[in-house]
Amino acid sequence: MKSAPSACPNGCQRTGGWELWSDEPGFKVLRCSSCGLGWTDPVLGDEAIGEYYPPSWYGKNNARFNPVFEYLVRLFRLRRSRVIRHRSHVGKVLDVGCGRGLILNELQQCGYKAYGVEISEHAAWHAQKKIGPNIHVGDFEGAPFPEDAFEVVIFWHSLEHFRDPSAALKKANRLLKKGGLLVVAVPNSDSIQAKLTGRNWFHLDIPRHYFHFGLKSLEDALKNNNFRVVQADHFSFEQNPYGWLQSLYNALGFQFNFLYNWLKTRSSRATPLQKHPIQSLAIFILMPFLLPLALVLTVFEAAVEKGGTIELYAKKTG
Ligand SMILES: [Zn+2]
Repeated sequence: MKSAPSACPNGCQRTGGWELWSDEPGFKVLRCSSCGLGWTDPVLGDEAIGEYYPPSWYGKNNARFNPVFEYLVRLFRLRRSRVIRHRSHVGKVLDVGCGRGLILNELQQCGYKAYGVEISEHAAWHAQKKIGPNIHVGDFEGAPFPEDAFEVVIFWHSLEHFRDPSAALKKANRLLKKGGLLVVAVPNSDSIQAKLTGRNWFHLDIPRHYFHFGLKSLEDALKNNNFRVVQADHFSFEQNPYGWLQSLYNALGFQFNFLYNWLKTRSSRATPLQKHPIQSLAIFILMPFLLPLALVLTVFEAAVEKGGTIELYAKKTG
């Protein structure tokens, strides 16, 4: 995408006067003042963005986080699959950006026929081991899935990684049966944690996130692509307390996203913990204060519908 698009990428009719939402070294986030959609500028090409996904990103041996958090991650997948089961008919399900296939595995065990697309060969290999040959390795645009065939299409924290989210939603619409369920979870740039912590916000994740949605801009994107939103959830125990916690540590001046290292396996840590013993100790000492605060803030921001991440459930209307 060009750095100064002539019209809002969300199709909201605005043609300029973009707000500067965040200004990082080397990158900034511009924002449409009509619909609230933000975008990272500049957008990196395939090769350059690859450097921001080191081989350690997904960890070794099918484990990205330490055992306690791997267990929690699996519990969250179970909860997510339950929500999807309650809101859809059993049939074909497609997870766009399926990672290691954890959610597909849960749904497959409930009778769904699982399909996935994953750009990371490493993650896709693990997904193929569980799910089989219906995992397409590569981009969504080129994936050969049958049209008018799916009961559910999921974008779980993947839509913000697309260079053209609207094209991805159009394709999802073609693949879904009429009345089929679209599930989209994204960081919420209108959230309290985004606004309060600014460039320290964990979920901003520049330059990996090309787009930055809020509730209105995501709803608009879905409506523009023939979906009717049936539910918007602002409470995510999976994403939002951690978003607060990491953003608070970042704002306090710790090495950026250092806590994340604690949660990962040794092989997938960006920075070894022993390199920063004082920070490691300080994180540990502050945890009893910041963790309860993060939980309270998560409940509060969900209550006022400004959750750090949002999950939208929508039906294909045409
Ligand atoms: Zn707009």
